Amino acid sequence: MTMSDEQIGKDRTCRACGAGFVYPQQGSLATKRLCPSCAGLPEAVLRVLEAHQLEISRLKRALARARGEAG
Ligand SMILES: [Zn+2]
Repeated sequence: MTMSDEQIGKDRTCRACGAGFVYPQQGSLATKRLCPSCAGLPEAVLRVLEAHQLEISRLKRALARARGEAG
């Protein structure tokens, strides 16, 4: 048996909406950064969504840390 060279998509998280998606995937509009739903959005909208997503990630980490410290 040999190792398969078949390309298998990797699980990624969308920078704009936070959804998980597989990239690359045949027939999908998804990019390395964006899920299929967000890939078609205007650049100006994506900038806002990405900023929100970054902030949400930061808050999630802060919350997890706070919960950990509080027991
Ligand atoms: Zn998305």
